[in-house]
Amino acid sequence: MSARPEDALSISRALATAKSNGVDRLDAQLMLAALLDRPRSWLIAHDDASLDQAQESAFEQWLTRRRDGEPLAYLLGEKEFHGLKLQVDPSVLVPRPETELLVDWGLRVLQGGPLKAAELRVIDLGTGSGAIALSIKHDCQAAAVTAVDASPTALAIAGRNSQSLNLPITLAPGNWWQAVPGQRFDLALANPPYIAPGDEHLEALRHEPQAALMAQDNGLADLECIIAGAPGHLAPGGWLLLEHGHDQATWVRQRLAGAGFTQVQTLRDLAGIERCTGGRALPATTSAFRVVFPAV
Ligand code: GLN
Repeated sequence: MSARPEDALSISRALATAKSNGVDRLDAQLMLAALLDRPRSWLIAHDDASLDQAQESAFEQWLTRRRDGEPLAYLLGEKEFHGLKLQVDPSVLVPRPETELLVDWGLRVLQGGPLKAAELRVIDLGTGSGAIALSIKHDCQAAAVTAVDASPTALAIAGRNSQSLNLPITLAPGNWWQAVPGQRFDLALANPPYIAPGDEHLEALRHEPQAALMAQDNGLADLECIIAGAPGHLAPGGWLLLEHGHDQATWVRQRLAGAGFTQVQTLRDLAGIERCTGGRALPATTSAFRVVFPAV
């Protein structure tokens, strides 16, 4: 046993320190599990074990950062999403549980419909850590998945996650559909920025990339851009599924209908909030009826 001074910080004292700093017990346990490289169950059975000096000072720094509101995922450098362990850093949004709803909807679309036969082309617009794109690829290996992001650092993280999880996807840098000129997809998913500038929630989210959270036009500018470009980038009968803010579902439904989408519908998240809205591009058979107005 390596000798440690009498006052070495034990796990139980570390947890008490976390509590007195106002840090959640589970968060503190996850920090200690990461620092000691042990499962959380081990910590519970060995609460008299000591941290070495490096672990102790790292723990203290993490407590300070966590108390300042930094997401635990940035301290640990990872976040679990849809059963995948994703690397994250402050250049990408921390993947949220409500976004798993969007992934599950996308998987139902892929597994359910007439899209099944063809090679499925899927696009995740604004991929960040790659959460949506990689979850779809993991559960639907037949799909050819493209992940778009305007941020090169975000795309590099998505690429690292793709490699470490052995889930090959295509990375496309650029703004929304501009990243994939001339390409069409059977399924497009996006969790774009949708918080209005000045919204009170932004303060609590200050450690995350504002460009991934905040959108102009009262939070609607990026949703608008994605919907406006979708008809030109979806295959006939293809689906567009969007995550949006708690008070944006009506606007998204109307905008999708206005852009010619059918089967427009909204799903609620676990908190009962209308969170994801999607619709289907016209199938090939009906597109023949579209009227093209001559230029005046
Ligand atoms: N749902 C996130 C939040 O409010 C925001 C994600 C986003 O803007 N796309 O914390």
